[in-house]
Amino acid sequence: MYFIETRGNDGKKPKKVTFSEAILNPSASYGGLYVPEKLPNIDEKFLQRHLTSHYKELAFDLLRLFSIDIDEELIKEALNLYDKFDDPANPIPVVKVEENLFIAELYHGPTRAFKDMALQPFGYILSSLAKARGENYLILAATSGDTGPATLETFKNRENVKVACIYPAGGTSDVQRLQMVTEDGENLKVIGIEGDFDDAQSALKSLLASEKFHAILQEKGIKLSAANSVNFGRIIFQIIYHIHSYLELVRRKEITFGDTINLIVPSGNFGNALGGYYAKKMGLPIKKILIASNANNVLTELINEGRYDLRNKHLIKTSSPAMDILKSSNVERVLFDKFGAQRTKELMDSLNDKGYYKLNEDELAALQEDFAADFSNDDEVKAIIKEYALEKTYLMDPHTATTIKLFKRYAADKNVAYSTAEWTKFAPTVLEALEGGEKKSDLEALQIISEKLGVAIPQRIAELFHKRIVHTTVVPKEKIEEEILKFL
Ligand SMILES: *Cc1c(COP(=O)(O)O)cnc(C)c1O
Repeated sequence: MYFIETRGNDGKKPKKVTFSEAILNPSASYGGLYVPEKLPNIDEKFLQRHLTSHYKELAFDLLRLFSIDIDEELIKEALNLYDKFDDPANPIPVVKVEENLFIAELYHGPTRAFKDMALQPFGYILSSLAKARGENYLILAATSGDTGPATLETFKNRENVKVACIYPAGGTSDVQRLQMVTEDGENLKVIGIEGDFDDAQSALKSLLASEKFHAILQEKGIKLSAANSVNFGRIIFQIIYHIHSYLELVRRKEITFGDTINLIVPSGNFGNALGGYYAKKMGLPIKKILIASNANNVLTELINEGRYDLRNKHLIKTSSPAMDILKSSNVERVLFDKFGAQRTKELMDSLNDKGYYKLNEDELAALQEDFAADFSNDDEVKAIIKEYALEKTYLMDPHTATTIKLFKRYAADKNVAYSTAEWTKFAPTVLEALEGGEKKSDLEALQIISEKLGVAIPQRIAELFHKRIVHTTVVPKEKIEEEILKFL
């Protein structure tokens, strides 16, 4: 299978590339993204066959359908990294929380957020490809708090890859920051910037586009890649668990084959939701993908009104920082799928030049066939965390809590909501939701919640508070390039 470009081809890059080329060099013509030329189909036979199989087998067979240019042995080794999850027999528990609400917990990996689902196998594959080709790569990661730890964790001490990770200083939780600044591989550099996540992400995008930066790297024999969900190598692993969710509901006789379900997805850069969209396009019986946002509600506006409008928007810091995003990268892949390269380029150019785009009526209707959306503000999120922890004994983090408003609206359907982070990454907010009062530190909040509700703090989190801090750099965003060059 080959990969093509969302904004068409500029005549300089190849017209189509293999999977390994798309993941090693993810930037496509005109600032676009790579997408599969054609999606494979999954039929009922495929689903039947995997009713009794392990997650790794499902994943392997799904990747095979894409016929990517990666050795089967290598794929198997990469998928074995799911054995590091809490329960190797079932890396993604799906919990029935109430009638018609199932929560698929994507956070049981090493860094306690759903980024591990894709980054664990992705990092292994990318580093192995680099080594086989005798090439050296620099991975630039901009993070709002979860991608960073997961990227550092997957590439730590791997060969032929260095990672420079940029995070907004003061924009992450203590746990997220400690996960990054205590990560001590020789090939890792962690840089805090004075700014928010959009600043971090646009700094990364301009570095990726900078010819001068490329020239310096070329002199040093280093190529650039990215581990954000602009990289299709992440998206492919984010299709699989949606199929797993569906199969889980069949296994429990909650549905039978052919019945449709909704997926409720806490969204920021739209990678997780895009995985669900692709699964639906491939034939998984999904009724709607419900897009949950926080007060940064650009996606809600887009899906309800057909407007992507940044003109009067400022990034709002919320209690769900991984969703504090205004430019949601993967929406572009949906635009391409529905409206083609020419229109996608037009819309994205308008967003870049004028700060907005508007879909026409037919386009909006096409979007609404697959998606619906709503957002929750921080007060609503806190009320949900409290209600579910105390009345339904289900403890959730603030990102997961944004899904519940949509569940309540669609409660007559079967719904799988995704839990994208463990509560331990956002303990002060969770405690504030439960008890009110002054915001406590991460450590205090972890201990109080653990005691009150009788839930364990995983060792991975507890030990962070005693680890040595190895990365102390915090700089204004103009200094990022300089810091990275020093590291190299
Ligand atoms: C990254 C992240 C999200 C957003 O996922 P996207 O795929 O970027 O939409 C939501 N919740 C948490 C906890 C995350 O880490």
